[in-house]
Amino acid sequence: MDPVRAYFEYRAEFDAALRTVLESGSYILGEQVAAFERSFSAWCGVPAAIAVANGTDALHLALRTLGIGTGDLVLTVSHTAVATVAAIELAGAAPMLIDVDADTYTIDPQKLEDSIVATRRRPRHGVPKAVIAVHLYGHPADLGALRDICARHELHLIEDCAQAHGASEGGRRVGTGASAAAFSFYPTKNLPAFGDAGAVLFASKDLDDRGRALREYGWRRRFISDFPGMNTRLDELQAALLNVRLRHLDQEVARRQATAARYDAELDGELIVPVVRTGCEHAYHLYVVRTPHRDTLRENLQSRGIGTSIHYPMPVHRQPAYSGRVPHGEGGLQVTEDIAGQIVSLPMHPFLSSEEVSAVTEAVRMWSRARAAS
Ligand SMILES: *Cc1c(COP(=O)(O)O)cnc(C)c1O
Repeated sequence: MDPVRAYFEYRAEFDAALRTVLESGSYILGEQVAAFERSFSAWCGVPAAIAVANGTDALHLALRTLGIGTGDLVLTVSHTAVATVAAIELAGAAPMLIDVDADTYTIDPQKLEDSIVATRRRPRHGVPKAVIAVHLYGHPADLGALRDICARHELHLIEDCAQAHGASEGGRRVGTGASAAAFSFYPTKNLPAFGDAGAVLFASKDLDDRGRALREYGWRRRFISDFPGMNTRLDELQAALLNVRLRHLDQEVARRQATAARYDAELDGELIVPVVRTGCEHAYHLYVVRTPHRDTLRENLQSRGIGTSIHYPMPVHRQPAYSGRVPHGEGGLQVTEDIAGQIVSLPMHPFLSSEEVSAVTEAVRMWSRARAAS
């Protein structure tokens, strides 16, 4: 990731946008935020979006708007950014962590359904109310199966789209087929701000109205709280910068996909490359490969000046804040445990040059040959 490259790429547009805001005298929830909400919702293909302060707040606000809180159980994955699980507890609900599918790294629908059935039979941790599906790395979770499970068990489905701007399933963009969806525009995400920002989409006008009031103290009229709310407003500077960046998003996702296609073609066989489920479009927020020899691969690439990372080195259920406290679902978390020691994220962003991609694939192949010879 190399966030500053985007600034130099579109510098004139960003500078003009900043000047417009600074000269306007309106700095929070003004015209730029309203314009971003219109253009982002149109890009997603839904009637409305609520811009908020960050992706964690977006999930928190989605849960609270759906009436989920104390005594409720929300099922999600351990193999995710900790924000997904933190947001559940911020809303006052209890998380239950479900294993992921070994190919797509997204929630395993069978283990999810088994867990719902088991907790309904013996409600020890809370009443199941919602599922948060994380489209991890930019690959859609199995939304068809998840919608079906949530409908049968009368649960809300919430999509964590923080890594998946531009991903789709069956031609439909992620974030548009559930009770609610949360996006993050953190500076390294597919649609990045130059600071914190996020957004929420809801399935109905009523939920949108309630979520919009919840964003600012429960206000529908200024200074009058209809119910207790949050403060998770977005500022005009970030919205203006996002308006610029959104104009380039489709092209940037296409560039990520082109880089991924080259990695796929040149690295398949050396490493386990990402799987794309039939009918899905992967947005490649991250290009994550798997190898049992991850650490030597990382050292080797580092020695050639190629940075890599691990998303994520420690599953949520192993982290000090959660370990021994947060329950896991039926079938355990074996896949989550297994992949945590093998995954590695290769360089991926829209401005990688062809030479940079070649340098990565050559370095991986040389490492692989040296390993085979030793
Ligand atoms: C980044 C991220 C979030 C949280 O977004 P912030 O804007 O950092 O609060 C939530 N879920 C996932 C999967 C993420 O990658």
